[in-house]
Formats: sequence, C-alpha cells, structure tokens
Amino acid sequence: MNIYKLRFAPSPTGLLHAGNARVAIINWLMASANGGSMLLRIDDTDHARSNQKYIENIHKDLSWLNLNWSNEVRQSNRTHLYDDAAKTLREMGRLYPCYETEEELQYKRRRQLKAGRPPIYDRKSLSLSKLEKSKLEAKGQKPYFRFKLNHTSIEWGDIMRGSSLFEGKLLSDPILIRGDGRYLYHLPSCVDDLELGITHVIRGEDHVANTAIHVQIFQALGGTHPTFGHLPLMTDIKGVGLSKRFGSITLKALRDEGYEPLALIKYLMSLGSDIGKTPIASINELVKNFDVRKIGRTKPKFDLEQLWAENIRFLHTMSSKVAINRLKQMGMDYVTDEFWNSIKQNIKTFEEARFWYDVCFGDITPIIENFNFNKEALQQLPPEPWDKKTWYKWTHSLAAATKLKGRDLFLPLRKAITGQDHGPELSTLLPLIGRKKVILRLQTS
Ligand code: GLU
Repeated sequence: MNIYKLRFAPSPTGLLHAGNARVAIINWLMASANGGSMLLRIDDTDHARSNQKYIENIHKDLSWLNLNWSNEVRQSNRTHLYDDAAKTLREMGRLYPCYETEEELQYKRRRQLKAGRPPIYDRKSLSLSKLEKSKLEAKGQKPYFRFKLNHTSIEWGDIMRGSSLFEGKLLSDPILIRGDGRYLYHLPSCVDDLELGITHVIRGEDHVANTAIHVQIFQALGGTHPTFGHLPLMTDIKGVGLSKRFGSITLKALRDEGYEPLALIKYLMSLGSDIGKTPIASINELVKNFDVRKIGRTKPKFDLEQLWAENIRFLHTMSSKVAINRLKQMGMDYVTDEFWNSIKQNIKTFEEARFWYDVCFGDITPIIENFNFNKEALQQLPPEPWDKKTWYKWTHSLAAATKLKGRDLFLPLRKAITGQDHGPELSTLLPLIGRKKVILRLQTS
C-alpha cells in the first residue's frame, strides 16, 4: 500500500493567513488519518521576496496549530535537482529558449484578444534557427525557457473537483526558467513532489490550471503524478479573496489576539463541511473520522465574529483539568476547579483568566463610592468558613441594615470587592477571595 505523503508548501514572502492555515490543516489531517506524514516545503526560489523572518513565522504558526511536519526542505537548497531536470527536458526538446521581451509578448496578447483569439503563446521562439538564437544572444539578449506542452488532452481525477480536463493546445507553454536563471514555481514543485515521493497534493483552487501543466511535466520527467485535490479559496464575509497582506487574519494576528488554535481549527474545518461541528478537545478527534471528500466545494467565508463565538464556546467547554494545567504553567499557582468554573463564562481569551486570578488571589484597586456603606458591609460580613451561601447571608443582612436592594446593593459591593462593575457570580468569587482580602478591599478609602 502507498504510504500517504503530503506536503504543505508555503512561499515565505508574507505571513500565513487563515486560508493558508485551512490548506495546511487539511493536508495534515489527510496525512494523519491515513497513517502518513506531511512535510514542510519552503518555496523560496524567489530570493528577492523570500525572507527568513517569514520562514520563522511559518514554523511558529504550524507549531501553534500543533501541526507537526516530518521534515523540511527548502527549494533554495535544491537547485541542482532542478538543473538536472531542466537538462533532461532540454535534451528531450521539451524546454526551449525564448527571446521575446515582455512588451512584445503584451503586444501579441493584445492583438490576439482583439482578433477574438485566446492569448496563447505562438511559439515563435521555437522556430528560431541556431544562428538567429546566437545572434540574439550576441546582442546581449538572455533567453528564458518555456516548457513545450503536448497538444493533447490533459486529464486527472481531482479529489474535490472530480474528473478534470484541459486541452494542451489551449494553454500557453509555461515559462519554467527566467532570463536571470531563476526557476519559477512549476519545475521545482514537480521535481520536489517526485523526488520526495509525494502521494497527494492538496492545494488551493488557484492552482488548477497549473496542475494541467504539472501533469505533463511529471510525465515528461518519467514519473507518475500525485493524486490532486483543489480546495475552494477562502474569502472574507463579503466574498473578497484573502491575500497574505490581509493583516487582520494572519495567523500571527490571531495568535497575538489570544485565539485558541483548536477553536480556529474547528472553525476553519466547519466552513463548507460537516467536519468540526461538535466541540473538540484535541485535533486528534478530527483525525478519527476525517474524510477529505467531505470537504465541500463552496467557498469558505471567514467571519471573525463567528471565530470569536467559537473561541468563547471552546473556553466554556474546556475541562477544568486542562484549564488548571495551563493556568499553573502560566504561573497561576492557586487555581482550583471552583476558580475555573466560576470565571470561564467571563473570559473571551484564555489569557483573560489572569485578570480574574488577580481579583481572587492577587491585588486589585477597589472602587469605593460610599464609605459608610462599606462600613456597614464590614459589620455584616459573616465569619469564615465561607461557601457559596455566604454571599446570600451577607447581602440579606446588609439589605436589612441599609434598606438597599438589587443593583444599589450589589453593584457597590462588586466594585469594592473586584474593582469591576461586571464579572462572575459573586457567590462563587467570594469564597475564593476570602475574608481577609474582602475586608482589606472594603476598608480602602
Ligand atoms: N508555494 C505555492 C503556494 O503557496 C505552493 C502551491 C503548491 O502547493 O504546490 O501557492
């Protein structure tokens, strides 16, 4: 049996966004669900735009999402393999030098379009004689290289799109090598997929036409092509495509905002599929029943509000055992089940628990509006031990003594004890804060 080997292949030319994350997650899930692995391929053939800082961010993003990769390859280290492949293709007559300038090409395209013809490259350079080529080169014109497509039908069975068909004669011979010798995306991608034994390529729908070209490159290089699947591209709620420059939903921004990676994963998977419809405590729960065919063809729309809601739901359903472990790791040593259960409904991010930790176990600045009221409150404060009922006992006797009730009674107490005008039930907070702290806070003038 073929061991599944997938890859995630970002270009380090910007920060990854939620759409890239969805592609990475699906690749990882597909590998994991089939006992395979996912490798990380850094598509950094564009030296000018690639940046080490983006590679570091890719590592951080994937680690944050808990998507492990079996190994990492960088295309910038693999030029010798592309050189070998280019040599093979040239010897077969499938890679040929071209000399048209960008202006000439544009002019040709405009004329073709005007005449109602598709703007397909006319292969003029292919018919240049040896002499003509050397004359051009003597004039200092550096050739770039195109792949000669076979004018046949190109077919593959796409996991998401089903049977896919392109006509070779309706495609322009793609440029594989630029005039400055730099490889463009196509050849390195195919060479790597072959050399690394990639079995499945799952990528965005923007690559469908590239895949038609790749099928022929794989064939020319003597290999069988991987199984392809093209995912619909994610948009924002208005239907506008996401780009790497779309700041607010870069993974870095989401991470910095305090979103939970699992809430993000669940949210991304629930878009356009019935995967991730119920709460998950670990990504492995998605691995169990993962079937890539369940991913629909509708464009997933990213809605930050829905992600917030998902994040809050996630926090509400997090077990106190998991929460307490994390809180302790964050230095909050005194947390208990009672603490987590009383504050979880009042936080939007996990980090916000720290705020309520300080309310219960640390120092806060009380808000005191009526000193006499506080004095009376101190008088009525029941002795310890305290439990959930203490709050009712206390406020009951305080109501009788002050003739205050409802908001007028509760709000000044809340402000004094927590320094806030909103928050978790005071009946649960009170025993956590303890009598000593409550007295101190009520006494502050
Ligand atoms: N670097 C390409 C991209 O980010 C990779 C596409 C592929 O998966 O082949 O779109």
